[in-house]
Amino acid sequence: MVEEIKCTVTECEYNQNIKCDAPMIQVERSHSSTAKSSDETKCETFKPKR
Ligand code: SF4
Repeated sequence: MVEEIKCTVTECEYNQNIKCDAPMIQVERSHSSTAKSSDETKCETFKPKR
């Protein structure tokens, strides 16, 4: 199990010092039915900072 998730999306509510602080994240395919690279995935848990 991944214990730390590095994430540079600092505009996300869950981002703390370039790491994800959410208890769990959901990653999905993005604009693709079969992802062939990380460009075709997305973090569904993203929430804009208030
Ligand atoms: S929820 Fe997704 S976008 Fe937000 S900090 Fe975690 S991994 Fe990054």
